[in-house]
Amino acid sequence: MAQNKKKVAVIGYGGMGGWHTKHLLVSDVAELAGICDIAEARRERARERGIYVYKSFEDVLADESVDIVTIATPNELHMPLAIQAMEAGKNVISEKPVCMNSGELEKMIEASKRTGKLFTVHQNRRWDCDYLMMKQVYASGDLGEVFGIESRIQGSRGIPGDWRRHKEHGGGMILDWGVHLIDQMLGIVYDKKIKRVYCRCDHITNYEVDDGFKLDLYFEDDVTARIEVGTSNFMSMPRFYMTGTNGSAMINTWTDNCKIVCCKNWDEKDVVPVVTAAGLTKTMAPRDEKTITESEIVRPESDVHEFYRNVCLAVDGKAEQIVKHDQIMRVMKVMEAAFRSDELGAPVDFEDKIC
Ligand code: NAD
Repeated sequence: MAQNKKKVAVIGYGGMGGWHTKHLLVSDVAELAGICDIAEARRERARERGIYVYKSFEDVLADESVDIVTIATPNELHMPLAIQAMEAGKNVISEKPVCMNSGELEKMIEASKRTGKLFTVHQNRRWDCDYLMMKQVYASGDLGEVFGIESRIQGSRGIPGDWRRHKEHGGGMILDWGVHLIDQMLGIVYDKKIKRVYCRCDHITNYEVDDGFKLDLYFEDDVTARIEVGTSNFMSMPRFYMTGTNGSAMINTWTDNCKIVCCKNWDEKDVVPVVTAAGLTKTMAPRDEKTITESEIVRPESDVHEFYRNVCLAVDGKAEQIVKHDQIMRVMKVMEAAFRSDELGAPVDFEDKIC
């Protein structure tokens, strides 16, 4: 019912602020109170769309009808705006990455505890179908003991030409895409601690911040995860690849189902060798239907607005927030370890706690 809906103000009416307002305008649990942006052009765009425009951030905080503030500004502003909002009695959703570093995050978590206000991060890619399928495959045990997982996002347009190019605004691909893919990987490998982190950053179109990276997470029990983001890849490798002692799974692109191949006969006698210029190989010969089973997981139904539904329930103490403080901190610590490893040019040890 409309009168029970939580009122949300969106701070920053750019690309992602626009996404939030669009979803809030049709939400079953929340309604848009209005937006606030420092750029007149953005404010004018909101007015044209019939959206209420607050004069200032302070004006938002003074509006007693606002329950939740969603912060969708460049990254360096998340912490100060979030703390100010919680201190003014507002619940806060911060866009990802939650802030610039773990020191800032500690202050945000402290403010949430001190004020008793909800504080969470919009990790909307927890509702991505490709991720949900990979999570399902890992948890099913169908591949035997999983020992390798690869998650990739590759484009060819370089790093966006806005604040994302600059360090002072929290630019770079680790903070931009890495934060999603790390959060997802920790959701997939839900049962193991990370022991070591190794990362190499790319600087192909930009020197100030990374415009891509290759990040290896070494989990306990010899499980290795590779997370790769590229902005200069004119052909893409599969979105996800997972392999275990009894089979492999792959998702090619965002929109594909998950393909699974498992071994059903280890005692194959008649391997047909592959002929290469250098000679024959049986070791690397492909398998045929006599020794494998092929199956598919069909993309599940997923509704990203579950995020807002959860936040609205959590504000009333009727649900636990899905994106939790210790998870947000764990992702931040992995990103910091990645930066440290890239600087050192070597793997770094990681003190971990599953959460
Ligand atoms: P953007 O540059 O398109 O928009 C940022 C807006 O914030 C601009 O309109 C700017 O004028 C405004 N702004 C700057 N300082 C402000 C202030 N002090 N008060 C009010 N408004 C202010 O950037 P974007 O792509 O929308 O990214 C915004 C945030 O959303 C970033 O943290 C980004 O990482 C995140 N984001 C998340 C996703 C996701 O999938 N979760 C996707 C894209 C962006």
